Amino acid sequence: MRLKDKVAIVTGSASGIGKEIATKYASEGAKIVIADLNLEKSQATADEITKETGAASMAVAMDVTDEAAVNAGIEAVVKKWGQIDVLVSNAGIQIVNPLESFSLSDWKKMLAIHLDGAFLTTRACLPHMYKAGSGSIIFMGSVHSKEASVLKAPYVTAKHGLIGLAKVIAKEGAKHGVRANVICPGFVRTPLVDKQIPEQAKELGISEEDVIKNVMLKDTVDAEFTTTADVAEVALLFASFPTNALTGQSLVVSHGWFMQ
Ligand code: NAD
Repeated sequence: MRLKDKVAIVTGSASGIGKEIATKYASEGAKIVIADLNLEKSQATADEITKETGAASMAVAMDVTDEAAVNAGIEAVVKKWGQIDVLVSNAGIQIVNPLESFSLSDWKKMLAIHLDGAFLTTRACLPHMYKAGSGSIIFMGSVHSKEASVLKAPYVTAKHGLIGLAKVIAKEGAKHGVRANVICPGFVRTPLVDKQIPEQAKELGISEEDVIKNVMLKDTVDAEFTTTADVAEVALLFASFPTNALTGQSLVVSHGWFMQ
């Protein structure tokens, strides 16, 4: 049990990668907080994970772009369990469009969810971690934190930005035992990616099979998708690593799509 009695908050965890990370943490002994937009869905996921793993869980309705909702959600966790050991800022969406027709409102929405969300959740957790003298903050980046693709201007911009934010947290947090790192997955078959396949096929004028084969998996070493389980393994490593030796880092898990 690598996270016994730790309290871990995972945003955007009613679905996809976040749900898998929360399940992994629960199976390693953590008390987990499912923080997602819709309380009903968050509660259903929390209940499912408790049933599967026996771990304590809590559901919080939280739009990560809403300062008051973030602060209230984190306070509710501290009130219930008295501590926060791990934050995984994972909530995210994708909107694809060529730059020349990207609306300002979609641009702002993307930056708000990925960057404001990371900032607001981190800011709300830090005082509790500083008080305890330890904590692990993990951002869900992407290969797009390192690499660009057409049609994804705000996503690529925001995912690059998370690396900068993590480095600042690593420097400011060090004396309080707080670490910050970024996970950079390749394509993972979740609702976020399934939605993009027909959208990209339309924008690029190619078939959906071609989007998968020649866009998404083209540069991998084995034409395979990364899985939610692969990402959860990295999330466990960052959450459980015991010292400041591993901080300010970003780790790519992408079947070799991007090699550093
Ligand atoms: P998903 O759509 O399965 O899950 C995203 C979750 O975030 C959903 O439950 C959704 O309700 C929640 N969410 C959306 N907006 C929110 C908000 N404002 N506040 C709180 N919750 C919100 O997607 P996923 O693929 O699991 O993506 C999770 C993260 O992983 C995202 O940050 C995404 O950019 C990143 N990522 C995904 C892939 C991939 O290929 N799927 C690759 C690299 C990085």
